[in-house]
Amino acid sequence: MPRISVPAGINTKIFILDDNALPMVSDVLKELWPGKTPWIVADGNTWEAAGKQLTLLLEQAALSPCPPYMLPAAPKPHPDYALAQKIASAMPENSVPVAVGSGVINDLVKTAAGINKTGYCCVPTAPSVDGYTSNGAALSVEGFKKTVPCPAPVAVVADKGVLLTAPAEMAAAGYGDLAAKVVAGADWIIADALKQDPIRPEIWAIVQKDLQDWIFDHKDLKAVFMGLAATGYAMQQHHDSRPASGSEHMFSHVWEMEGLTHNGEEVSHGFKVSVGTIVTLKLQQFFLNTSLEKAQQTAAAPVSFEERKAEVLELFKKGCYGDHPEKCALEKFLSPEETLVRRKEIYAVWNDLQKKVREQLKDQQLLVEKIRSSGCPVTFSEIGLSKEQFIHGIFTAQLIRNRYTILDLLYEAGLFKTAIETMFQD
Ligand SMILES: [Zn+2]
Repeated sequence: MPRISVPAGINTKIFILDDNALPMVSDVLKELWPGKTPWIVADGNTWEAAGKQLTLLLEQAALSPCPPYMLPAAPKPHPDYALAQKIASAMPENSVPVAVGSGVINDLVKTAAGINKTGYCCVPTAPSVDGYTSNGAALSVEGFKKTVPCPAPVAVVADKGVLLTAPAEMAAAGYGDLAAKVVAGADWIIADALKQDPIRPEIWAIVQKDLQDWIFDHKDLKAVFMGLAATGYAMQQHHDSRPASGSEHMFSHVWEMEGLTHNGEEVSHGFKVSVGTIVTLKLQQFFLNTSLEKAQQTAAAPVSFEERKAEVLELFKKGCYGDHPEKCALEKFLSPEETLVRRKEIYAVWNDLQKKVREQLKDQQLLVEKIRSSGCPVTFSEIGLSKEQFIHGIFTAQLIRNRYTILDLLYEAGLFKTAIETMFQD
């Protein structure tokens, strides 16, 4: 069986990515869940793409699958915690869930399997997200998008023939989510240089060592899925999404919490992330194009706690950013004196950090071209954002997580507003 090795010590034990992998599911189930009956969870589309064929294959292997749990093809199943609970309570006795679908179905089944502590097998139908192999599921819980902690799949069996049938925009979204790791890596380099979040070389390597090969050609679905799966493993091993997510994902989270739709449809995670990647890249380029002298000369004066609090409350006034988002935002506050100390630390690493970030980004124009030619959006209007909402999102993204990124570097250096203004002068 063409198994691909996975890092030791994570929840995922078997990973198969092959031109014709569906027939291998039965052996995987027999090995990992002997005596359990497979229970396929699919929707109308993924049933046609793989579920039906997989059921036949399981029957041929004498595994007698339980009747499948079918979600409708339209409207698309919503990633909702209540639905995951429903799936958990519908799970037949002595069965093992097999999620046949893309990100939403996988997240629903991951959560349901987590509730029932059964483990599950993931059969992806689109190379659309990096979340297949991570611990945790992105679901709305009572109206708020959250990452619900739950174990990653024990087995992932990806069939290239099935992945090829995915709609083009889903494959593009996955490519965008993968290409994002270039700028996410640069954000981690920044956090590492300022001693905010040290890089763990063994985790870094899981995502970054082969990244340029994985994103070389967006049509190479095997390479793209390989990269997406690897980033999930890195997150499992790091117990945090840092290896796969920097400021580009924070933009995506802000727009998600604001319920962004375009032409009446929810914008996919990968499309929000790809626009977020371009914004992040522009901010990182601003850093690269600013000399240390210019940074020192043009730094804005630090603000008082009261001034900052007023800015933060104004940015959060829509009220859709979770429970007390101002808490996290204000925890980042540095007094004017602390700001000046931090600026000294930033200036001390400035030139060296520019070198490291430039090396990580490689050919920046080529990266943009690759994202664009994969079919991903690269401008805010392509995902239905107005200029005002877009700019508001950039300021807000810096506040919602305590993960240090280019946004914090520019904010603390007193250059954030100038960097954003510069973005519109091109
Ligand atoms: Zn992502």
